[in-house]
Amino acid sequence: MSEPVTSELEAKSPFEMRVHLGDDVPEKTVREALASGDMGFLHSFTTGSAVDGPGVRVVAWTTGCTWRCRYCHNPDTWTLTNGNPVSLDRAVEEIRKYRHGLKVMSGGFTLSGGEPLMQHRFAARLFSAVKKMGVHTAVETNGYYGHYLSDEELRDIDLVILDMKAFTRSQHELVTGGMHNEDVLEFGNRLAALKRPMWIRYVLVPGLTDVPEEMEAIASYAASLGVVERVEVLPFHQLGQYKWERLKLDYKLASTDPPTNETIAKAVGIFREAGLQAD
Ligand code: SF4
Repeated sequence: MSEPVTSELEAKSPFEMRVHLGDDVPEKTVREALASGDMGFLHSFTTGSAVDGPGVRVVAWTTGCTWRCRYCHNPDTWTLTNGNPVSLDRAVEEIRKYRHGLKVMSGGFTLSGGEPLMQHRFAARLFSAVKKMGVHTAVETNGYYGHYLSDEELRDIDLVILDMKAFTRSQHELVTGGMHNEDVLEFGNRLAALKRPMWIRYVLVPGLTDVPEEMEAIASYAASLGVVERVEVLPFHQLGQYKWERLKLDYKLASTDPPTNETIAKAVGIFREAGLQAD
């Protein structure tokens, strides 16, 4: 499978390959942008998503992620400057174009990535502006940088979709390339204390994350929070494989098949068993 490399801000899907779009931005400008949120780095915008939060969504895909998940579908988003430099004002205007339709379709705006909260100043200011339009807001995050958002900023996010990779530290490190998950669990606890609605996502990879004990521990943790409205079990797929190959990265899942329906049903059953709504 080969996809064109493009610089357009809109993409048909985040699986389009995008690299080096922000390479010309001086390092000092990058640092200032991260500190102020005046500018963000975006892989793309996609419209019409029905899978990134409730209703039909406009999704902005950020670049930048310090994790190295073995199953990452979009490794071109790891590098911040692979993304388009986009001013905050332009990002707000992009979303404003769709605001009426999003409201009619009970949808909203989702910021995903990459890890969107690596650009937490940009994210916070963007959410604040989108909330003022009366549009539902969601972030899809690994939770690692959640502590950079104030309680007030978290209230501008109607839904946090927390990607949980594992529960135990050893499994988490195995899946993510050595990252711990203490901050992730703390972020979940904080969201619960603030009564912020959450969804949890879990990518099911045969031979890597189809570990019942891990899912049971996540299910128990999620149920204890009292704010998790839904758990989505996402079956692993190979749509991102060509990116690993083109970026010359060591892809350890090249011969891994998607999970069977039976494996998916078992995983969903584990979350339901804990009293959660899961699909
Ligand atoms: S946290 Fe998300 S973007 Fe980062 S490596 Fe993992 S799957 Fe990829």
